[in-house]
Amino acid sequence: VEEKLWHAKYPGEIPTTIDYDEKPLHVFLEEASKRYGEKKALHFMGKEMSFSELYSQAKRMANYFQQLGLTKGDRVAIMLPNCPQAVVSYYGALMAGAIVVQTNPLYTERELEYQLNDSAATFIICLDILVPRVKNVKENTSLKHMIVTGIKDYLPFPKNLIYPFIQKKQYNLVVKVEHRGDTHVWMKILEQTTPNYQTVDVNPKEDLALLQYTGGTTGFPKGVMLTHFNLVSNVQMCDAWLYKTKQGEEVVLGVLPFFHVYGMTTVMNMSIMAGQKMILMPKFDAGDVLKTIHKQRPTLFPGAPTIYVGLLNHPDLEKYDLSSIEACISGSAPLPIEVQEQFEKVTGGRLVEGYGLTESSPVTHANFVWEKRINGSIGIPWPDTDAKILDMETLEEAEIGEVGEVAVKGPQVMKGYWNNQEETDNVLKDGWLFTGDMGYMDENGYFYIVDRKKDMIIAGGYNIYPREIEEVLYEHEGVLEVAVAGIPDPYRGETVKAYVVAKNGYILTEDELNTYCRKHLAAYKVPRLYEFRDELPKTAVGKILRRQLVESEKIESKEL
Ligand code: AMP
Repeated sequence: VEEKLWHAKYPGEIPTTIDYDEKPLHVFLEEASKRYGEKKALHFMGKEMSFSELYSQAKRMANYFQQLGLTKGDRVAIMLPNCPQAVVSYYGALMAGAIVVQTNPLYTERELEYQLNDSAATFIICLDILVPRVKNVKENTSLKHMIVTGIKDYLPFPKNLIYPFIQKKQYNLVVKVEHRGDTHVWMKILEQTTPNYQTVDVNPKEDLALLQYTGGTTGFPKGVMLTHFNLVSNVQMCDAWLYKTKQGEEVVLGVLPFFHVYGMTTVMNMSIMAGQKMILMPKFDAGDVLKTIHKQRPTLFPGAPTIYVGLLNHPDLEKYDLSSIEACISGSAPLPIEVQEQFEKVTGGRLVEGYGLTESSPVTHANFVWEKRINGSIGIPWPDTDAKILDMETLEEAEIGEVGEVAVKGPQVMKGYWNNQEETDNVLKDGWLFTGDMGYMDENGYFYIVDRKKDMIIAGGYNIYPREIEEVLYEHEGVLEVAVAGIPDPYRGETVKAYVVAKNGYILTEDELNTYCRKHLAAYKVPRLYEFRDELPKTAVGKILRRQLVESEKIESKEL
């Protein structure tokens, strides 16, 4: 691996502190356009777009927003999967002075309406196929304008500009939506608008770039307020951490969705800052990802454990050449060591674990890629990031090795929750963000996540962390995926249940798993119940939704 890597921007080590640029986030795109010009910024379904084209599109978009009356601080919802329009509208909205509200394209009407109302967004950019959903809620929200774009008849660019992504005949299939009143058609905007937008004064440490909704899986969704500086600093930390990679030379696989903070920072914003070409994949499909790696030769691949598991278990894995992969960071959920080792064997690259949350833009910790890493740990805090463990009872700093709540502090930590001072005060204290995750630190300053505070199971008086049981089950040769959760039990308070997906062709039985768990776990931790499933529910970044499994359990027991 070592030979594949080039110069060192920070020769030989990751700095503990960085000189951050106090500038608006979108300045990264302007700089990239100057520095990398005709170099390719995006790759989408076989077509490519340069940095200067991307910048020009974003400026046109910014101008159009301003012509429609957008003023500084207005909220623009973007409801798109990974595609060129997602990048253009994100940067265009920021350049116009807007606050971007990222919206999951899979949201139901109820979820969408809640988010639009909470953020009071006045603009939305969505796919043509989502128009009926947006129209159904529009009257109940403060939306004024809807910009519509197509993904199937791929139409990001007007015919007399460059046509990087579509064929002429596809162009004629033009989106059926009319460009009139409050509805605007993407390609016409780009065709009819000049890049002469008005630059807006931004105070990077105060002004918001983003409202990033979170908590949908664990509580009521809240809008995390991230400033331009929060995002710029986290991207600069990513860059410092990847110090052995070369500016303008890397190719990054963009399969993590950009509407989630993890893909947004580590793929989209990072690529633009560092002149990497990003390969946009609108959804995760293991076969497509393998083919894309084989053909497009990405060097960097941020992902989540379930993504790597999905690839490793694809029946045609061996047919593909994955040797271009050099560095991968896995976040959003614990990375089983088995998976890490296998993936490194298959690719010859490095896969290390990192950690973060929406409230911290998101990354706060990661392992070193090339040296001094510790498998099973989330690594050390990033430059300028402090982290500590707090004893749950005394709220004092815990001893080394003792489990407590992880708290973090740094330039990437959010300003607070949008319109929700009470929740903000619950998690932000003197600049420290209380993460709600339980973990510990070892004597070398490496951190380990034990589990989510909320997911801890209390069964018969014992505290049980589902992750420990999942780790054991992942090591069983027949287990593809597993989630462990506590379900209500009249005698023990809660009881441990494992939801298991078997590997293709492997017939798993409860007896086999039970015997196996008894060998590797103390009796009180051994699941009392097993359920075999074809798949497990996951979030957009592939995090398994333990809570959803528990909730469905509660609903079923009520129905009985
Ligand atoms: P989100 O705000 O959607 O990015 O989710 C953040 C949460 O994901 C954290 O609070 C953790 O519970 C979890 N998480 C992220 N990275 C890891 C990791 N490496 N190991 C365990 N949990 C993680």
